[in-house]
Amino acid sequence: MRYAVLGTGIVGRTIAGRLASLGHDVVVGTRDPATTLARTEPDGMGNPPFARWHADHGQVGLETFAAAAAFGETVVNTTAGGQSLDALQAAGAANLSGKVLIDVANPLDFSTGMPPTLDPVNTDSLGERIQRAFPEAKVVKTLNTMNCFVMVEPARVAGEHTVFVSGDDAGAKEAVTALLGSFGWPRASVIDLGDISTARGAEMLLPIWLRLYGRFGHGDFNFHVQGPRSGD
Ligand code: NAP
Repeated sequence: MRYAVLGTGIVGRTIAGRLASLGHDVVVGTRDPATTLARTEPDGMGNPPFARWHADHGQVGLETFAAAAAFGETVVNTTAGGQSLDALQAAGAANLSGKVLIDVANPLDFSTGMPPTLDPVNTDSLGERIQRAFPEAKVVKTLNTMNCFVMVEPARVAGEHTVFVSGDDAGAKEAVTALLGSFGWPRASVIDLGDISTARGAEMLLPIWLRLYGRFGHGDFNFHVQGPRSGD
């Protein structure tokens, strides 16, 4: 399958690398490939510049958001949440039309310092905003409730734990559940929350996730939702 991963941060790199290792054809999208490759400083989170990662992943392409989205049969949004709509506008509605659009981003607002707040929140979500802005795309919100290394290698966290999916298109959610299975997520770990408005709940887990990260000092943890006992 051809995948476009929009975003050059640690999440985009981690998902793109995992998809490529599974044998998929992957192109990463960015605003300007030359500018992205020319960066020599670590990013704001201390991750090495993209070019260093790319040198080790030569099979993964790097294109503009639009060229990457045109290439992908499935598109993954791993851009900064506050700028995701801009990035997807640059990708182009026509290049997203009819495709599964996996939204991993969180609408974190750092404008008032740390920890970040959410915008939108409670009565709206980034997942819904993306779906409204691109009605021809099949938006599935997933994986945003955990660290990116756990997203693609759930066995980093001991025991059973949970990944949520939200979206309006049942077929798209089924395709994403299959992809999650290829990452190592048992089907029983996937909870379909419902339509895309349920992304509000998944995004609103971020405030507690961030505080757990502060408590543990690392991201190798996850939420586990235990269902009712059979017969209850
Ligand atoms: P990030 O630093 O949040 O975002 C980097 C990407 O955003 C880059 O591709 C950048 O484009 C793009 N971008 C920034 N400003 C832009 C603008 N004005 N217009 C268009 N695009 C813009 O990267 P990240 O840390 O990998 O996180 C990616 C997303 O995943 C975020 O939404 C984050 O909340 C979410 N998330 C992260 C984790 C985690 O483990 N870190 C876990 C769950 C969810 P260029 O390539 O052109 O620079």
